[in-house]
Amino acid sequence: MISVKNLSKSFGETDVLKDINLEIGDDEIVAILGPSGTGKSTLLRCMNYLCEPTTGTVSIDDVVVDAAHRKRADVRVLRRKTAMVFQDYHLFKNKTAVQNVMEALVTVWKRPKAEARETAMALLEKVGMADRADFYPSKLSGGQQQRVAIARALAVHPQVLLFDEPTSALDPELVGEVLATIRQLAQERDFAMVIVTHEVEFARQVADRVIFMDGGSVVVDGTPEQIIEHPSDPRLQKFLSYVS
Ligand code: ADP
Ligand code: MG
Repeated sequence: MISVKNLSKSFGETDVLKDINLEIGDDEIVAILGPSGTGKSTLLRCMNYLCEPTTGTVSIDDVVVDAAHRKRADVRVLRRKTAMVFQDYHLFKNKTAVQNVMEALVTVWKRPKAEARETAMALLEKVGMADRADFYPSKLSGGQQQRVAIARALAVHPQVLLFDEPTSALDPELVGEVLATIRQLAQERDFAMVIVTHEVEFARQVADRVIFMDGGSVVVDGTPEQIIEHPSDPRLQKFLSYVS
């Protein structure tokens, strides 16, 4: 169980996140929608402490990190329970696909190289990229790079996988292959997933729950039927009319 309590984040005078409260079940698939600049990326980054919240707590199972008195060891454990997939892939340019997937296994988890490579190959197989294992990112399409990035995120066995607009940087014809990969993971339900996306139809089909954020707050939180098919909040209605 992942829980975010009374989480706020300010950059200087700007309050970007205002008292966010969320609970996400162990195998729940949550989509986050909302206009740009509303704090969605900041929320994901706070959930794994890539970014330090100003106040509030983030917990995963028994690890509780309170912004007011965080312990470095707890932050490290929290980070290791999560993995993130970014809009622009963030692959290491000087490493091949398989080396990208192996990286954390070798450096963080201290796995022997041969074993790490075997695990990495199995993950590349899972995302349909085994035949490109020895390619450098520059030789892969955006969709292929993103699938490698997903394999890399899976390598660390996250309890929660955070996706920050995983298809926003892709040419339209490459979006489908990445959504298909995410959809497959959603069906397996091995971990929780939080997906920030503008793909409303995808969110409707894949998510158990949809959260709409605006102005640094959670405006509505409900089932895809409630949020996407029968939106009642005017800000949400306006947002949906723009993106769909
Ligand atoms: P979203 O992902 O919903 O588009 P972000 O979380 O990226 O929104 O940003 C929310 C707000 O926080 C924006 O106004 C952005 O300019 C501001 N912001 C994000 N990161 C920083 C930062 N490191 N320093 C200052 N302001 C930031
Ligand atoms: Mg963002």
